[in-house]
Formats: sequence, structure tokens, C-alpha cells
Amino acid sequence: MSFSSLALSSKILSAIEKKGYTKPSPIQAQAIPAVLSGKDVMAAAQTGTGKTAGFTLPILQRLIKGQKAKANHARVLVLTPTRELAAQVGESVATYGEELPLTSAVVFGGVKINPQMMRLRQGADVLVATPGRLLDLYNHNAIKFSQIEVFVLDEADRMLDMGFIRDIKKIIALLPKQRQNLLFSATFSPDIRALAKGLVNNPVEISVSPENTTAKTVQQIVIPTDKKKKAKLVSYLIKENDWQQVLIFTRTKHGANKLTRDLESQGINAAAIHGNKSQGARTKALANFKSGEVRVLVATDIAARGLDIDQLPQVVNFELPNVPEDYVHRIGRTGRAGAQGHAISLVCADEHKELQDIEYVIQQHITRKVEPGFEAVNELPPSRAIRPLKAKKPKKIKQQKSEHKDGQRSAENAKGHKTPSKNNKHIDKNKLENSSAKSRRKKPLSANKSINKPANNPAKKQVKKAVDPYSASR
Ligand code: AMP
Repeated sequence: MSFSSLALSSKILSAIEKKGYTKPSPIQAQAIPAVLSGKDVMAAAQTGTGKTAGFTLPILQRLIKGQKAKANHARVLVLTPTRELAAQVGESVATYGEELPLTSAVVFGGVKINPQMMRLRQGADVLVATPGRLLDLYNHNAIKFSQIEVFVLDEADRMLDMGFIRDIKKIIALLPKQRQNLLFSATFSPDIRALAKGLVNNPVEISVSPENTTAKTVQQIVIPTDKKKKAKLVSYLIKENDWQQVLIFTRTKHGANKLTRDLESQGINAAAIHGNKSQGARTKALANFKSGEVRVLVATDIAARGLDIDQLPQVVNFELPNVPEDYVHRIGRTGRAGAQGHAISLVCADEHKELQDIEYVIQQHITRKVEPGFEAVNELPPSRAIRPLKAKKPKKIKQQKSEHKDGQRSAENAKGHKTPSKNNKHIDKNKLENSSAKSRRKKPLSANKSINKPANNPAKKQVKKAVDPYSASR
């Protein structure tokens, strides 16, 4: 199948060609005609499958016709769980719509709300948003939803993991009844199906890989070792294999900082990306990693969600995640768009249970490889035989606490009060890293000083770009 057979305008086809895509990915081949048909769509697709273009291309096609967005209105609303993903989706919209007379905007927390309010005065045909900031903007009368034609819920599984269910339901209730709904999720868990029930009508269901299976192009390995040997082992692996670009996952923000320091002390250029870092620092770390200036990016699960780094060859799990599905998301960073990738997990005896849960979810044993010199003194027990997957009963959806996370509002705003925009203490701040409910704790917020850096700060420039991705092309 070629893109030209997909009923897309020549201007969109030309943008695709410029991007260098030769044929639609499997999700695109299925999603583009389904979205163009105007039906609701429910698609199971991980990041890395090309899902963003899968919904963006047909949406742009649809927007060519119809009335332009009015002031403080949007025609398409895309909700994403994290700031990084919002920025990336915004960039895709800008790239694929480069030759179209359409406008778009991206809004997320962790940066000043005022420029976003100003931007929305012009209206945006496509608005990409994280839920909390969107509700803040709604409470400030900066956005109205009566013109919404299409609603996209991207990475819905992660939205639920991050506790956004109440915000999402609030937003859905504000949307016009007559609209097209598109729901994308890496997995279709019973929770997602319960959410979908109230969202999509008679949807076209699309799945490009069976639930929770890991990309076939990813070679997965477990290296059994002891906890205290992990830092040395990881720098040994980087040097020995001459890895030039490696994404390492840790469970905690503290662990990410510590490992970054350890790697730096070994002469390996590394940066950490997690929710305690300002948006500017996160954007900078990602940009430096993409450009090759930083060789190792150490990330926690939530910060890394949705990171689109082309052809990432190596992913290392410094620690296994508590939630087995996060393993699938983590290794989805590598082996993208058909390229071969490697996912290496350093596993100590304490993580035996997590390993077993992961092997159950992916329904396969991961090959173990002992690294001479780093053998485990505390032996990792062998894996049990894998039980067949059982369908889970839908869990009762938990009430969301007023914690600050990516895309969430301040507690004060959550109660319906308007917060003066100059009060940066109330601007979103991600305090939560691990999607395990057990590890969630409330902490007092501190003002994010790096939010308001002078204009020559590259981080601020990036944000400006994200607020109006079309500004350069106009
Ligand atoms: P996504 O799953 O939307 O995050 O996309 C993953 C990566 O695949 C992005 O870097 C896209 O630029 C790339 N991509 C999307 N569609 C195609 C395509 N048809 N051919 C090659 N690469 C693509």
C-alpha cells in the first residue's frame, strides 16, 4: 500500500514525502481510512508504530474542509499524558500540515499560562494539550469547546496510570455531543475498555500487535547481577560495546540522579530526565541526547513516556519497573519503525518477582546472559513456567487525588477556583515518577524558578515553538 492510495490531499502527501516516509506503517494503513470514514476509532498501538501520523494525517485531511477555528476555540482536541508527548504531537501536526492553511497550538503545564492564553485568542484548528493545563485554561475562559469536531485521547492507558481519569471525564463532559472520537492506547486493559464505553460509539477497533507483546525487532536480554554492581556494570557495558546513544530507566528520580553522577564520574556524558527537573531542563536534556551531545539519558518511566527518539539502538533497565506493562513501554523506545534494537535489563535477586510478572505479561521468557566479572553472588532464581494470560476484571476507578503531575492542575484550580496566573507556585509540577499507586506520595510544591528564564534561554525558545508550531511556516 502507498500513501497516495489513502485519499489524502497532495499537500499532505508532499509533507509525507519530505519526511521521507515511503509507505504507511501497519497502524497508519488501518487507522487512516477508518478516521477518514468519520467513524470513532479505538486503536491498540504502542509509541513507535507511527500512531501519531495515523491520526494526524486523516485529521488534517478532514480539517481542510469546514469553518476555521474561531477565537478561543479549537476544532480538534488531542489530549496527551505528558508535556513531552504533547510537544511531539504538536511538532507532527506542524510538520504534516506544513503546506495547509491550518493553525495549531500546544499547551501543557510547567510553563507560564499567559502566553498560552494569548495564543488561544487566535483560535487553533488543532489543539494538543495535557489535561490539567487544559482545564486551567478552560477555567480562565481561554478555551471553549463548542467547535470541537474531533477528540483524540492519546496514550489512554498512561493517562489512567497517572490518575487523570477525573480530568478526562470532566473534559469529555464539556465537549459537544456530536463529534468523532479516537482513542489510542498501548494496551486495551479492562480499565481502558471501561473508559472507552463512555467515549466511543460503535468504534472501528484496530490493533497492530497483540496486547502487551513486545516489538519483534527488539532483542531482549536479562543480565543477572547484584544490586551494588549495577552502576559499574552499566558503565562497563557502555564502554565495552561502544554504545553511543543509550536510554537507561531507573525506578526513582533519586536513582536517576545518582546514576547520572556515577556515569559522569566514569567519563560518560549523561543527563537525567524526570519530573523534578524543570521543563526547560527536560527539553534541553532531550535535545542534547538527540543531537548526540549527551550519550546517556537516564529517565524515570513517566518522564520517558512518549519520547520519540529515532532509531534508538539501546534501552537499559537499570531496575525493572514495578508495573510490568511499563516494561513494554520502556522497550518500545528501541527497535522502532522496523529497526533492530536491544533492551537489556540488569536484574538482581530482589527483582525476581518483577521479572516473573513481566515474563507473564509478555508471555515469554527473556534470555539470560551472565556478564563475566559481574556475576550475582545473590543468585537470581530461575523463572517459572509461564501461565497463560487471564482476562482481568475491570478495576474500580480510583478517585484522583489533588497531586501535581504532568498535565494536572493545582489543587486549588481542581476545586474550580481561578488561580492568578502570576502565581507560579501553582503551575503544574510533576512530583510523581512511578506509576505504582504504592509509590505515590503527596509533597509540598516548590516554585519552579527555571520556568521564567530570559528569552535567550534555549528551553524557552523550544516552548515558544511548541505553543505555536505553525509560526515559523507562516
Ligand atoms: P509514533 O509511533 O507516532 O511516535 O512514531 C514513531 C516514529 O516513526 C516517528 O519518529 C515517526 O517520524 C516515524 N514514522 C511514522 N510514520 C512512518 C512511516 N510511514 N515510515 C517511516 N517512519 C515513520
